[in-house]
Amino acid sequence: MTNEIVNYIENDIEIDASAISHPVRDVLDKALEGREITQMEAVTLFKANGHADKQAIYHTADLLRQKANGDLVTFAVNRNINFTNVCYMGCKFCNFAKRADEEDAQWHSVEEVLRRCHEAWDRGATEVCIQGGLHPKLPGTYYEELCRAIKAELPDMHLHAFSPFEVWYGASKSRKPYREFLQGLKDAGLGTMPGTAAEILDTEIRKQLTKDKLSTEKWVEIIRTAHEVGIKTTATIMYGHIDAPEHWAAHIDLLRSIQKDTGGFTEFVPLSYQHVGTALYSENPGKVRMGPSTDEIDKMHAVSRIMLHGFIDNIQVSWTKLGPDHAMAMLNRGANDMGGTLMEESISRAAGADHGQEITAYELTQIVRASGRTPARRSSDYRILDIYDDHDPQPLAPLIERGDKDPLDFLKMFPDASSGLEAAE
Ligand code: SF4
Repeated sequence: MTNEIVNYIENDIEIDASAISHPVRDVLDKALEGREITQMEAVTLFKANGHADKQAIYHTADLLRQKANGDLVTFAVNRNINFTNVCYMGCKFCNFAKRADEEDAQWHSVEEVLRRCHEAWDRGATEVCIQGGLHPKLPGTYYEELCRAIKAELPDMHLHAFSPFEVWYGASKSRKPYREFLQGLKDAGLGTMPGTAAEILDTEIRKQLTKDKLSTEKWVEIIRTAHEVGIKTTATIMYGHIDAPEHWAAHIDLLRSIQKDTGGFTEFVPLSYQHVGTALYSENPGKVRMGPSTDEIDKMHAVSRIMLHGFIDNIQVSWTKLGPDHAMAMLNRGANDMGGTLMEESISRAAGADHGQEITAYELTQIVRASGRTPARRSSDYRILDIYDDHDPQPLAPLIERGDKDPLDFLKMFPDASSGLEAAE
């Protein structure tokens, strides 16, 4: 085993380096030597169960994170805007979508979306993240028109918008090939796309999640085409339901192979399945898990860091899925990015997550500092805009009333902020 990991591990009194199993040791050696680990080797890491094995995986991920990103932990000041929750698609894992005749169905006019964009801009946002359900009455031209309307009023706001499912829908309704549709969006001002709707890129799993309406092949084709026309995207996985380590490794391997060709992924974002109220869980509670375990969440961040090292060097932790305390702990499992302030998160909340709608830039810096790292604000394409090493972002009241909930409450457990990361694990 390389001296680097042995030294690292031997300095940790909880780990007996000699207790690391040979298969795990071999894979980690390979990763630390800068060699690409295979899909099967990733499965070995995902399935590792011994304490020493798991700690060695986490430390390796942390070493690679340090090599790739140093001590900066980044975030964007952005706002989520979901223009509608009406969707006819009926994905079984989704608790966000409503039928048009349901009481809590929502549709925001273009004027309302613009109002929210202006409000975000006034609060320092550099990005709006816009996604919506597949509303049966939505014309295919809507997506391009929305981009043009926002850019006409806020030319410097970055538009991060429309999942591959929405691109599939818009292109189908417009009767345009994906390339032409995506080029139209780019010309209208679209900056980047969320790589959502990936769920698990496996045909059998997708049949059960989405009736395979957006197949793996179509998702890959849309993403590759977006990259080819110059629209970068994020990459995601939604895990912890009917999936297994073999699916995770194959999914990340597929993303890695796309990245080798296009270089178009900006980051990888693990998203935990939220089971509450989903048909997937309620129709088959014996077979469907209630989201990933803590152990699986640790491993997803760490193994993705190890697999994607040198290919996708930003691993983002989702505070909306995990909560701020758990998200902070993932900074020690290979993550280097805290996502964004979001301002009005509604998809995870609809699916049962209860971690608030916004963490302000000021609050994110406090959480990152408590982890012992240096917070930095970034652009959507990961340019560093401000490093908060000797100053803070302006404290702002949250956009949406929180009641008694304070995302920094958990930090009160740590009188010495520098010990916060260990304590939060
Ligand atoms: S995941 Fe997206 S496409 Fe599927 S039902 Fe929910 S809103 Fe519709």
